[in-house]
Amino acid sequence: MKYNPKINEDIARLPGFTDIYPDQEDKDVQGMLELLYNFEQYLCALFGFDAFTFQPAAGAHGELTALLMIKAYHQSKGQGSRVKVIIPDSSHGTNPASVSMVGFGTIVIKSNERGNVDLDQLRKAVGKDTAALMLTNPNTLGLFDEHILEVADIVHKAGGLVYYDGANANATLGICRPADLGFDVAHFNLHKTFATPHGGGGPGAGPVGVNKKLEPFLPVPRVMKAGTNYKLQTTNYPNSIGRVHGWHGNINVIIKAYAYLRALGGAGLREVAEDAVLNANYIKSRLKDYYYLPYDQTCQHEFVISAKWQKEKYGIKALDIAKRLLDYGFHPPTIYFPLIVEEALMIEPTETEAKETLDAFCDVMIKIAKECETDPKLVKTAPHTTVVGRLDEAKAARELNLRWAPGN
Ligand SMILES: *Cc1c(COP(=O)(O)O)cnc(C)c1O
Repeated sequence: MKYNPKINEDIARLPGFTDIYPDQEDKDVQGMLELLYNFEQYLCALFGFDAFTFQPAAGAHGELTALLMIKAYHQSKGQGSRVKVIIPDSSHGTNPASVSMVGFGTIVIKSNERGNVDLDQLRKAVGKDTAALMLTNPNTLGLFDEHILEVADIVHKAGGLVYYDGANANATLGICRPADLGFDVAHFNLHKTFATPHGGGGPGAGPVGVNKKLEPFLPVPRVMKAGTNYKLQTTNYPNSIGRVHGWHGNINVIIKAYAYLRALGGAGLREVAEDAVLNANYIKSRLKDYYYLPYDQTCQHEFVISAKWQKEKYGIKALDIAKRLLDYGFHPPTIYFPLIVEEALMIEPTETEAKETLDAFCDVMIKIAKECETDPKLVKTAPHTTVVGRLDEAKAARELNLRWAPGN
């Protein structure tokens, strides 16, 4: 993941933020409430939505929150029979998982040969039972759907809502707004797009933005402004789905993302998108002669190549290449995802890497492709320079030996 600027940490460490308690009276935490209020306005401006909740603590939690709102929306219209969510086969695994958590069913549709939503399949899938379409755009192949307006239109005409999985919105910041594309609701991962720590450095935050259709269903309390004062308001929202978090969300993460947004400003955020897209396309064009590239369109913030050629010729898998990258000091990319690309290597350089780093990575990837030809065993048995060698992954998965398990 990308560079997490230190200024974010410095701001989040200010005593005015660290010394407050979520149950304090509104009048004592005006600064914090003002920050939340302003951040909501900024996100609305950036993504085109009418309101946001900051309660969800992760992307998947945002999906759950959004789906609960979608369910409440249909029920409020006497359309509780809308229980199916359409999801393309390129989607992130959390999407169908969240769908089943709210008691809905998933209809998976195949992507077309350009990696986009297949319009004919979508037309066949929609109907009176459609609650929503969940779409990642740009999708997990790094492709921006070429027919996005038509996609949204087909779902709306069938009475469904359109949900945007905006976990990685780097590529479109300041360039296009999901609400303008027809999305009714979306979650955004502050720990991906907004440079707050991710993975071992968590926790995360998955704010959800909505348009007017879904605003009445947002979780409470909401931050409101009355004159010059800010307050947390729970009353006046009879249709709210209620709380989805014990307090107001992972506030510390929100402060860091706010600092990041303020530090970059509108022009800086647009530059994030331009650089993220440029970096990904640069690597793609340097690697495409050495690895199979299933979708050779201009990509957005990421792209997917495959170890298919290496597997067919030398029996070398994406996993082997990822392990060999460790020998050269690179954190390997996500492999075997999205599921629709065999031996997938998903490469997302982000906007914060310099050309020197991108070139060093490409040089190593090209070197590994050559090693596959000249010394396949070297790649198959990697890593060679790490403290721990290759683990038996099947054994590790089947015979879990967790040190803290009872009896150990
Ligand atoms: C990361 C990701 C998610 C899930 O976010 P978490 O914060 O890990 O729950 C959902 N969709 C996409 C496309 C993602 O990349």
